[in-house]
Amino acid sequence: MKMDNHQYKVIPRGSLLASSPMDWQAIDRFILLAALVLLAPFAFGITLFIANTTIPEYLNQALVPYLLALYAVHFIGLSLMIVKAMRLRKAADDWPIFENVIIGSYLLVVLISSYLSGTHFTEGLLLIFLGVNITSTLADVNKIKQCYWFVVPTLAIMGIADFIPSIPYALLLEKSPIAADGRPMVGWLGLRAAVVIILAPLIYLCILAMKRWVEREGLYQEMSTIDGLTRLSNRNSFIDRGQSEIERVRRQNSPAGSPLSCIMIDLDHFKMINDTWGHHAGDEVLIAASKIMLDSARTNDEVGRYGGEEFAVLLPNTGMLKARLIAERLRHKIANAQVVVDGQTIEVTASFGIATFPSQGVEVIADLLKTADKALYEAKESGRNKVVTA
Ligand code: GH3
Ligand code: MG
Ligand code: MG
Repeated sequence: MKMDNHQYKVIPRGSLLASSPMDWQAIDRFILLAALVLLAPFAFGITLFIANTTIPEYLNQALVPYLLALYAVHFIGLSLMIVKAMRLRKAADDWPIFENVIIGSYLLVVLISSYLSGTHFTEGLLLIFLGVNITSTLADVNKIKQCYWFVVPTLAIMGIADFIPSIPYALLLEKSPIAADGRPMVGWLGLRAAVVIILAPLIYLCILAMKRWVEREGLYQEMSTIDGLTRLSNRNSFIDRGQSEIERVRRQNSPAGSPLSCIMIDLDHFKMINDTWGHHAGDEVLIAASKIMLDSARTNDEVGRYGGEEFAVLLPNTGMLKARLIAERLRHKIANAQVVVDGQTIEVTASFGIATFPSQGVEVIADLLKTADKALYEAKESGRNKVVTA
């Protein structure tokens, strides 16, 4: 699946606030992202301004004006782009340049600020890490990947520079912001508070994103293993379970002690039910028959929809005789069930074929199913509404 800005479903604009940001159209997600990124120049700028007013002797006065100007330009530039995006969002759902500016400017401001204050491997790294996390879910993940190849070498160069005595460390600071008693100065504590202000919404969005992935994973798991109409295991997951049951029997020391049985079930004259009562009624019959099979099954049994109106039941620790009893009981229940659809009572019967493992010629699950299918064919041939063992 291609991941791009249109990976999420677009929801009506009116319900924006009630939905997850990950469902918004690209430009709305960028507006949110830009608003979060604005927190960086805002919080850094305020902190620097206050520190420069209260304890100017701690700061490199040659740098302060440039840094304040950088925050101001970043803040104003991004704000103007947000205003423009608010106008654009009614007509366009994407604005890639906006996305590039958001990501690029965030990285630059965080990298520059943290390097100048000597926090590039503490607060700076944290801000970049969480920024990357959340931006991957709100923006184009491929752009974030490119940023990785910019950030990692940059951090490596900063790390090397830290070891070279001729390169000044924490250029912004004239003296250590830690007082003699070990307590950081107010300006320094302010920087930490700024980091918390930026991180808190980022972390919350990360949680929303994780929740989304977990839900999607669950949905994917369900869709790939469960039949949508009957809620039984689908063919693939039934076969997977069957194969692992065969292997389990084989692993045990005395295979004869815990055989595995499989019943193949095919509804009789189902095409006629469809033709007589309609496809919708046919579906209801399939659902009713599935419910009977599921209700009769033991905890460890597996009931699957094998094809259109074909079902299969896997019975671990069950020999041929017991499987036959179970199938007969099931046959009765289905034949006696009356499915009422739109006030009409539909009668239904089914034919059954049973095979057991271990038995001659059965090595894998496909062999077991084929053998049961052969028995089922005989049940059909000999008049239907019957149970035949292989
Ligand atoms: P037999 O007793 O020999 O099994 O006859 P039959 O009519 O049951 O068998 P056949 O294979 O001729 O027809 C099966 C029918 O099941 C044909 C197909 O349209 C229908 N069918 C398959 N899947 C579905 C479904 O999901 N819903 C409905 N309503 N019908 C389905
Ligand atoms: Mg049939
Ligand atoms: Mg059939």
